[in-house]
Amino acid sequence: AKELGRNNYQLYTESMNQKVLQRLDIENSLRRAIEKEEFVLFYQPQIDIKTGKIVGFEALLRWYHPDYGLMPPMEFIPVAEDSGLIVVIGEWVLETACRQNKKWIECGLEPHLISVNLSARQFQRSNIVEVIDRIRSSTGLAPELLELEITESTAMQDLSFTIDVLNQLRKKGIRVSLDDFGTGYSSLNYLRQLPIDTLKIDKSFVQDIRANSKEEAIAKTVISLAHKLDLTVVAEGVETKEQLLFLKKEKCDKAQGYLFSKPLPAEEIEKMLRDKKCF
Ligand code: C2E
Ligand code: CA
Ligand code: CA
Ligand code: CA
Repeated sequence: AKELGRNNYQLYTESMNQKVLQRLDIENSLRRAIEKEEFVLFYQPQIDIKTGKIVGFEALLRWYHPDYGLMPPMEFIPVAEDSGLIVVIGEWVLETACRQNKKWIECGLEPHLISVNLSARQFQRSNIVEVIDRIRSSTGLAPELLELEITESTAMQDLSFTIDVLNQLRKKGIRVSLDDFGTGYSSLNYLRQLPIDTLKIDKSFVQDIRANSKEEAIAKTVISLAHKLDLTVVAEGVETKEQLLFLKKEKCDKAQGYLFSKPLPAEEIEKMLRDKKCF
């Protein structure tokens, strides 16, 4: 039994070491990823449910790791958060997304809203408003065409700080969206207090919508509540026509999901816009 115990212990530490090493490895390569131009943004269309027209895009980060290939954001964003690297990466994302959106307009395409995700660590910086405003204005993009997405859990961490920052951003004309709504502690009390423009219903609710299901009831309630609070509602993770029909019936404003399009590189989005693609 002793032997076994020791072996188990060794196995445990070995796999633990491996994890730590892999994390360090990711962290080190993350450090160089910006200068080596390994990051790229993909864009996923957001559709106006009433008209079927593309009204905006969410910018989603992609990393082509030299050894591991395409790394999903969920695998490196937590490492970037813990190491603090998310701050520079986030600034790169914001600048790239604003610049791309501005470029599409300069090419003669109709203006669209661009949504950019902000991580908790990034949002909690004391100079976040100045940083965002400086980056946005350096690209020349109109503030009304920029929307920032923060998650419920980020917003909750320090409510009075959050309210202050969001007020300042909105005073500058930048829109704010509450992401992943329904997955955290969605207290109605803080929803009432948050100065936001948009609420995104998390895909876990959208995907489980079935007639008379609890998710259907929750989605219905969230849409009507959001409208009473004068918020635009976006449903994410829309994959089927049935989900879309339900959302249309409930007067959800916008939809985003594989039913319309996966997140795509900028060139493919540009083609879509030139063809005036409608869904
Ligand atoms: P999120 O902000 O909730 O983004 C939506 C995620 O859902 C994206 O995953 C998108 O590709 C995926 N998605 C879109 N439509 C569908 C659908 O119909 N079905 C399903 N199953 N999934 C769909 P992605 O690109 O892998 O990003 C995952 C998460 O990583 C994001 O979740 C966000 O939290 C984070 N993330 C991505 N880019 C950035 C970034 O630039 N900065 C920060 N801070 N976080 C980012
Ligand atoms: Ca998002
Ligand atoms: Ca989301
Ligand atoms: Ca999510």
